[in-house]
Amino acid sequence: MAIESDQVVGIDLGTTFSAIAYVDSGGRVRTIPNREGELTTPSAVLIEPDRTVHVGRKALRARVKQPNRVAVAFKRDMGEKFYRETIGGREFSPEALSALVLKKLVGDATAVIPSIGGAVVTVPAYFGDARRKATQDAGRIASIEVLDIINEPTAAALANAFRQYLHRGGDTTRFELAAIATTAPSTTLVFDLGGGTFDVTIIRIEGERLDVLATGGEVRLGGIDFDVRLVTHFCDEFVRRHGIDLRDSPESLAQIQAFCEMAKITLSSRTQTVIVGERYGKQLHLPISRRQLEELTADLLARTQISVENLLEDALLTWDRIDDILLVGGASRMPVVADMLNRISGKKPNMDQAPDEIVAHGAAIHAAILHMRTSSAVSVAVDGSRTITTPEVGVEPASDTVAVPDLFDQKVVDATRKVRMTDVNSHGLGVVVRDSRENTVVNSVIIPKNTPLPTERVKVFGTEAANQRIVRLRILEGDTRDPRGCTQIGECVIRHLPKGLPKGSPVEVSFRYDTSGRIHVRAVELKHSTTAEVELVRNTGFDQVDLTRLTNAVSEIDIE
Ligand code: AMP
Repeated sequence: MAIESDQVVGIDLGTTFSAIAYVDSGGRVRTIPNREGELTTPSAVLIEPDRTVHVGRKALRARVKQPNRVAVAFKRDMGEKFYRETIGGREFSPEALSALVLKKLVGDATAVIPSIGGAVVTVPAYFGDARRKATQDAGRIASIEVLDIINEPTAAALANAFRQYLHRGGDTTRFELAAIATTAPSTTLVFDLGGGTFDVTIIRIEGERLDVLATGGEVRLGGIDFDVRLVTHFCDEFVRRHGIDLRDSPESLAQIQAFCEMAKITLSSRTQTVIVGERYGKQLHLPISRRQLEELTADLLARTQISVENLLEDALLTWDRIDDILLVGGASRMPVVADMLNRISGKKPNMDQAPDEIVAHGAAIHAAILHMRTSSAVSVAVDGSRTITTPEVGVEPASDTVAVPDLFDQKVVDATRKVRMTDVNSHGLGVVVRDSRENTVVNSVIIPKNTPLPTERVKVFGTEAANQRIVRLRILEGDTRDPRGCTQIGECVIRHLPKGLPKGSPVEVSFRYDTSGRIHVRAVELKHSTTAEVELVRNTGFDQVDLTRLTNAVSEIDIE
């Protein structure tokens, strides 16, 4: 592999596995193996009693013997402000643990790229603001310049577009990035069932444009949940036969979790396997069939089906408008997933040849696109709040006179500069209002989910009481009518309203969601034009002091 300085990389920071990739000067996307020679690194962190930190395979293996010293699946808790994982008696935030994974990936990658100039990190499309911000924070804690956050399915679709181009006889040796411009128009449904999260996204690719039409999913649904069903099945059977509950011992539980995951993976290629467990000299050899696994997890699969069907409905599309179903994420390898999609769509889903790397590849392509535009007039947001922050639609490609970093061949640069991407918001944005007919507070959605970005929407409400002097708007992220099903992400307060305003005086609330991911809220009391504006400062995440403290702490850790 060529050694290039100040390269940018794409990182798939997965719940169970992570990967890092880059685009070389000829436009080829390459996964960078870790120090152990693996293309993917388990997202597992082991902290030894002497405070030595291991990330990856060794940590995952240690889980069986030292379950209290190993953290896994912490991505699911990203952005949960008060969540802490206790490892060996010390508390770690999911962001700090993710930073250790990032540090391992980037550190190992320096064997190929001595100087990494920045990274695009992927997140599930269904991540809300707090989780996106947390992913950005993890990058900062790892001292990585996060160029952007991109949605995993979008990254997969981007990488897939290039692969399709190659399948159709595109130049395999050079100019992979030119592919986007010559790909036939197509609408792809990306079904991404990873270790911990589930995303489904519909993406339209036409010429140099890549538009996300709609996105949905669940933050807490993935391969791990399928493992849990097998674990419960096995442990219940162990209790029934031997009166011993393996779940009482963290070591036995960790071991059985590992065996059940292996059994689940085996059942993707075989129809029958055996799970073996042992405690206090008692053993259980439990045969398990693919059919049984499917029965134990039928409701989980049904949840993915409901998300897919709801998404099509939201996007006002029917299956005949979907050209391609792309399976991404390790858990999509379960045959029942393709069967279900085939049954409901009448189409044969397509599993990418490198499903574990495709997301990192897409992130690397996005990083390359951003890098080539670093000298153009378009700004790139780094606040972690949104998905794609490539230039706005309609912005002309940077002029030829703009200096271009010499990392890429000019032809690659020319082709890539034309690529345009637009995205949608994955969650609705609204405010808490009182519904006078029901006399309850409700979430009044102002920007519905799956609205193409950027956007600006306005709604008019009435004041709640006569002589009201202050209007306090609680801003919500979420789609349920009941505010308790949503997350409050900020407040906007109009003070000093004139005295004597009658009840029901109109207040206009406008939300602007810009391409750099900032949510701008403006409220105006219409009679006297009393105004309040707020640019949302998310009330989760770390303050600067915490960030600096964590960054210093992580920078001092050598990852073995
Ligand atoms: P990812 O986050 O995309 O790497 O997906 C990891 C998840 O995929 C884990 O839950 C794995 O157990 C699961 N997985 C990986 N390979 C397979 C397979 N062949 N069959 C079923 N699940 C798999």
